[in-house]
Amino acid sequence: MMLSDERCWDAVVTRNAERDGQFYFGVVTTGVYCRPSCPAKQPLRKNVRFYESPGEAERDGLRPCLRCKPLAGRADEETVEKIREVCAYIQANCESGDGITLETLAENAGWSPFHLHRTFKAVLGITPKQLLDACRVSALKTKLRKGGTVTAAVYDAGFGSSSRVYESVDKNLGMTPAQYQKGGKDVGIWYAYAKTPLGLLLAAATDRGLCFVQFGDSVDALMKELKAEYPQAKIAEGKVGRQEMDGWMKALTDYLQGQAVPLDFPIDVKASVFQLKVWRYLQTIPRGEVRTYGEVAKAIGDAGASRAVGTACGANKVALVIPCHRVIRGDKGLGGYRWGMERKTALLEGEKKRYTAQQR
Ligand SMILES: [Zn+2]
Repeated sequence: MMLSDERCWDAVVTRNAERDGQFYFGVVTTGVYCRPSCPAKQPLRKNVRFYESPGEAERDGLRPCLRCKPLAGRADEETVEKIREVCAYIQANCESGDGITLETLAENAGWSPFHLHRTFKAVLGITPKQLLDACRVSALKTKLRKGGTVTAAVYDAGFGSSSRVYESVDKNLGMTPAQYQKGGKDVGIWYAYAKTPLGLLLAAATDRGLCFVQFGDSVDALMKELKAEYPQAKIAEGKVGRQEMDGWMKALTDYLQGQAVPLDFPIDVKASVFQLKVWRYLQTIPRGEVRTYGEVAKAIGDAGASRAVGTACGANKVALVIPCHRVIRGDKGLGGYRWGMERKTALLEGEKKRYTAQQR
């Protein structure tokens, strides 16, 4: 288990060498990550992020500090050097489609694929594939921020298809910073809202992804919900810190107006392991299809849990992007919907009409 942010920071302030190896801290202003005991000048708290493994820091684009050498001791110097080269190669070439495989990486390094995979994981705490996916997601974000279509950005970022984005978004789903458990302390949240055919929709996101997509009767009421969810976060309107917000809002609105736009955006939600399993599965239900609570339970390998599946669906805070509306009761009754049966009916009928017709 990762230490709390508070204890991590305490260890950084006191340069506590006993905490070395238990976590790493990254400094966003300098782009490096360190051991708790690093002798370099201490950063400001607001510029610091904590990581369980070096790989997670690499994934955020940070480099190992030259003073405290956070990778030293995890393998011999030559091995560490080689792993860093593989990292740099992945980061520089992540956009080249399917060109990067474990085999090509191993060949470049002069190692066997098995040895590379095992050593990479031992040194960084994540697999080469996890780093590659994360680099692509961040390349994708940059491209989306620059404008253009989602589909073009998906391909340009090196994903072979939008389902590949799903895969890595799925894996990143729920990888929320520890701050979330504390009501979003120190977290910035940006929001936007729009009128849609199904009523007012408000979406909000952290710097990692959407955390809130909900229908409601008024902006005030929706803001109240958002604040209740993240009582300690700094919530601001607009695109200052989150330029994708506008594009996401537009895609959600277009979707509700019947356009076939993808909604495979990054998500940043707090969830239990069970909820994550259910929500991941929901994202694989094709448009135009439905599953029963029992079918979802069976699919996630927990056949007796259809009731709990219902509860997990009801707990979803990110409407449409996690399509909980595609789950219905076993007797083909529609089951519940957090945002009203009228909306669930309209969503399902619209999807059935558009997508089943398309496939014929
Ligand atoms: Zn350092």
